[in-house]
Amino acid sequence: SIVYLNGAYMEASEAKISPMDRGFLFGDGIYEVIPTHQGKGVGLGLHLKRMENGLRSIGVEFDAEPLKQVIAELLEKNDGDDLNVYIQVSRGTYEKRFHGFPDKVEPTVFAYTWQIGPAHVADKAQAHTLKVVTADDLRWQRCHIKSTSLLGNVLHFQQSYGEGYDETLLFNGDGNLTEGSSSNAYIVKDGVVYTPPLSDELLPGITRKILLTILAEHSDIKVVERAVSKQEVLDADEIWMTSASKEVGPVIQVDGQKVGSGEIGDVWLKAQTLYSKHCYDIDC
Ligand code: PMP
Repeated sequence: SIVYLNGAYMEASEAKISPMDRGFLFGDGIYEVIPTHQGKGVGLGLHLKRMENGLRSIGVEFDAEPLKQVIAELLEKNDGDDLNVYIQVSRGTYEKRFHGFPDKVEPTVFAYTWQIGPAHVADKAQAHTLKVVTADDLRWQRCHIKSTSLLGNVLHFQQSYGEGYDETLLFNGDGNLTEGSSSNAYIVKDGVVYTPPLSDELLPGITRKILLTILAEHSDIKVVERAVSKQEVLDADEIWMTSASKEVGPVIQVDGQKVGSGEIGDVWLKAQTLYSKHCYDIDC
């Protein structure tokens, strides 16, 4: 495939980054994954804004606007109706390994695409269901930053994946839900959706933002952002996990036990139906 690196387009095999890059040495960077279908990005502006915010929070001033052109070119050069775009900006390459922020380094900007399936269909029979396990959230205290330092997330994901499951639901020191290793989390009880409020304990997911906006604008489904306990998760009628790739993913099993009836729920069907219909309308 054709990738973008620091102003140029090239075959992936031609792209070279120094081992002195701080993204490699320290995981010192910020990334985004943006789904596109028929050339249109889902939440494109929101993703780029989150990238700018993340970079600002680590002391890198970066204008993400020109990346719109980069994305458009990558989509054209790598034809395909359904592509994810990955963008990573690291602090840059410096001559020596030194923890402090070096002066005068240019950020390293890398982007590439890969094929994904078509946008999800809001259909119980075709939905990809998730079976998850629970764990104490052992990541760092800045989970709102979409950092490329993902070892904590990787280890949590492997807790489920390594046992044949799909995701790990994480709980903070108070026993409340934070999110998954790579997705936001929700429960449904008696028709009401509950999800943890944004804080430094979880990533402000773009899919979360799009979904909550759509539910508020186009449905009478009530959404409450508040702490969700482990017991509430275990007693939930439905559990969902969202990410750019999962859209609204229905969870049917937690720690080997059925969620609700063990079947995909009706509130999920409404939510994914509305998401499929309106996800391109919500941006910035
Ligand atoms: N939480 C974490 C920890 C993530 O890594 C992700 C994205 N992969 C999400 C939530 C979902 O974010 P988005 O909806 O922007 O993909």
